Amino acid sequence: MNISKYILANICHPPEYGKVEFINHALIGLDRSGIIQFLLKPTDATYQEKLKQAKKEERLIAFDDSKLILPGFIDLHIHAPQWPQAGVALDSPLYDWLDNCTFPLESKYSNPEFSKEVYNNLVDTLLAHGTTTALYFASANKNTSLSLAKICAKKGQRAFIGKVVMDNPDQTPDYYRDESSQSALLETEDFCKEVEKLAQNTLQGIYPVITPRFIPSCTDSTLKNLGELAQTHNYYVQSHCSESDWEDSYVFNRFGKSDAEMLKSFGLLGPRSIMAHCVKLDTTGANIFAETGTSIAHCPISNAYFANSVLSVAKFQRLGINIGLGSDISGGFSPSIYDNLRQAVIVSRILEDGVDSSLPSEKRGKANSRITLAKAFWHATVGGGQALKLKLGLFKKDYSFDAQVIDLSTLPTYGGFDNQDSLWQKALYLTNSPSIKAVFVQGKKVYQNQL
Ligand SMILES: [Zn+2]
Repeated sequence: MNISKYILANICHPPEYGKVEFINHALIGLDRSGIIQFLLKPTDATYQEKLKQAKKEERLIAFDDSKLILPGFIDLHIHAPQWPQAGVALDSPLYDWLDNCTFPLESKYSNPEFSKEVYNNLVDTLLAHGTTTALYFASANKNTSLSLAKICAKKGQRAFIGKVVMDNPDQTPDYYRDESSQSALLETEDFCKEVEKLAQNTLQGIYPVITPRFIPSCTDSTLKNLGELAQTHNYYVQSHCSESDWEDSYVFNRFGKSDAEMLKSFGLLGPRSIMAHCVKLDTTGANIFAETGTSIAHCPISNAYFANSVLSVAKFQRLGINIGLGSDISGGFSPSIYDNLRQAVIVSRILEDGVDSSLPSEKRGKANSRITLAKAFWHATVGGGQALKLKLGLFKKDYSFDAQVIDLSTLPTYGGFDNQDSLWQKALYLTNSPSIKAVFVQGKKVYQNQL
């Protein structure tokens, strides 16, 4: 076995849904590509021998007890060009927000210099928040969408990127729209090929994604053609589904069917499809998701502003739908998956308890809706990895070593670093970017906190 790097650290990850495992002084061996070849605990028979070997070969990276290593987070839904307006205009309804803020901003990405400046800053920011993998909507501009892919490749972030398609003249402004259905398809094909070329020299992986913005923005023929393209090449697909009252009813009015039914009929659902939000998914839609293996990108901060309701994570999880977490910059204001993980827990409790205190408690909320912190941790890591069909989110043989190093001494850990159960909870609830000291993607350090 050829081990090129050994990591010695206290680690913590969610090996099962709802369970967190904490291993003190784990010894992890990585191959040249940053894939985990073994993980040994101090009680394992070969531990001491391997540790000695690692030291002798001077290939050991050791972290002391003030550090805790968590798996890198996966942001399953983020609009890269919207980064400049993060935190802005969140009091507007979705339709107005798109028309007055988002479309004017995204149209500026025909400018290569502006695009590079924003995208460089965004990718740096995400890495500094522990996001090692991201599924991006870029803009409708093919060339600058490609420059986002190049920036991620260079900075070492694993990225899934789509050139946004939006060609419906009824629902998109004249100044920001694909020229025609045909050009949207050709540019998408071209974009995918270029990203695949880039991927040949990108260790951590960079992947093209078929990206119809959402059904309202696209014509029927475009949706159908994109579905065929995805199926022919087994491409990933991302879009929005049943996001809000307005969006959900728009699709009903146009087709007489639900978002999920229409996305399926266009060939856009499947094991490599990830749909954002889905708060209004009905039983038929949920069954379609489960049958096709489509994943949900749950964006709990964004949902508080635009979704008119709360996603029932617990219910959909029970129905067998895979769920990851997304920041939805800039429908959500925070680039941090930590913030979204916490919000996911909080809103699930509000959903369970209800909000109207004038009602008797048994009539106030929806029973069995809450998710625990451990479950939210799973959605932020393993759930995202399963959506992307990659071995991500765990410290385990054959998984990519994607990791964030938390400095526990920056958190209120009075009494030391002995209580494992309180340490991982504090780490998940209290970590902000300054507490993240370093980030690794596939064994390579891609961020070092200079503070
Ligand atoms: Zn979105």
